[in-house]
Amino acid sequence: MAALDLHIDNVGKRYGATDVLRGVCLRIAAGEFVTLLGPSGCGKSTLLRIIAGLERADQGHVRAGGRALDTVAPKDRDLAFVFQSYALYPHLSVYDNIAAPLVMRELTSLERLPVIGGLLPGAGQRNRSIEERVRQTSALLKLDALLDRRPAELSGGQRQRVALGRAMVRKPKIFLMDEPLANLDAALRIHTRGEIARLHKEMQTTTIFVTHDQAEAAALSDRVAVIFGSELRQVAAPADLYREPVDLDVARFLAQPFLNEVEVAAPVGGALIIDSSRIIIRDALGSGQAGTLAFRPEHASLVDRDRPGALPVCVTRIEHAGMDAHVFVHAGAGAEFVARISAERAQSLRGGDNLGLTIDSEKAWFFPWDGSRQSRDHSRVA
Ligand code: ADP
Ligand code: MG
Repeated sequence: MAALDLHIDNVGKRYGATDVLRGVCLRIAAGEFVTLLGPSGCGKSTLLRIIAGLERADQGHVRAGGRALDTVAPKDRDLAFVFQSYALYPHLSVYDNIAAPLVMRELTSLERLPVIGGLLPGAGQRNRSIEERVRQTSALLKLDALLDRRPAELSGGQRQRVALGRAMVRKPKIFLMDEPLANLDAALRIHTRGEIARLHKEMQTTTIFVTHDQAEAAALSDRVAVIFGSELRQVAAPADLYREPVDLDVARFLAQPFLNEVEVAAPVGGALIIDSSRIIIRDALGSGQAGTLAFRPEHASLVDRDRPGALPVCVTRIEHAGMDAHVFVHAGAGAEFVARISAERAQSLRGGDNLGLTIDSEKAWFFPWDGSRQSRDHSRVA
């Protein structure tokens, strides 16, 4: 199926005195799966609605397949929108819910009438082609056995699949999905996420998916676009985003539940002193700028207290999380850190244990304060 590329050029939107989106530029290739990720209220839905034509940008343009969409009505944009709340027609069967967009588009109001409609020349042929499309779509979504049911007789996951089917049946060139999994319970969310990935692989429709859930974004996307404070901060493949967040906001958002942070006044020569322990940090640290050193719990290790270069710490508490455990420690100067270690190893640790902490400095980040972004409340180091 033909997919379209989508270019978002310098899009801005204000509500009253508030900038909801500022200067958003994003180029999405034909067939690509891109996720808009960011905290609640950051403008994800607004951007999606601007692409769909349900909302007007105050600034900038959206182009699909090279065509400017500014004056194109939503129904002529060749895209389908799936919302968080799947509004199905309650009195129609699954079959009729999926067929509805095709019936509206391809049959006249006379041809839609039950008995008379079927007698009109041409309508029968079109009805058969609608039926074929509905059968194909429902097979793809594994809804074949449910076609006669009404929405009230379906589970939440099945209903969301019907909503997907209704969006897909028109074979849109671009798919927009706004937190379509948010109303499902955890197990179903993961299952349906797999279904969406499989559908995208089969159909290769350009897809823009919105979520505030980083795991969902990483699982589904070719690239993730992180929106924060009305701005597009970073667009990258999931693995690159994990490895190299551009700023502290993005790092924090992507390192939930925990990110270790140390405010550093003016590091010199690639080394950082915490509590008289010298910790070596890669690159960009010779500048003498103040900033924040940040590292993930999985990049901290707990070692013997007297290991050279290790920061002396004391265990405060341990949180088990399946195969791993998060160990909370504090250092002499009042700084707190979290290390992620195997649950097996955590068995041998107790609150009050004295250990050493080392950082995998290749994987730590340093974010200089650029004046516009202030340091916030987190660990302090003397
Ligand atoms: P997200 O989908 O990322 O949670 P939204 O795009 O829905 O965020 O909203 C972004 C911001 O714009 C929010 O602060 C929201 O309150 C505001 N907003 C959204 N729609 C309107 C509207 N129609 N009028 C005024 N403010 C709005
Ligand atoms: Mg939203």
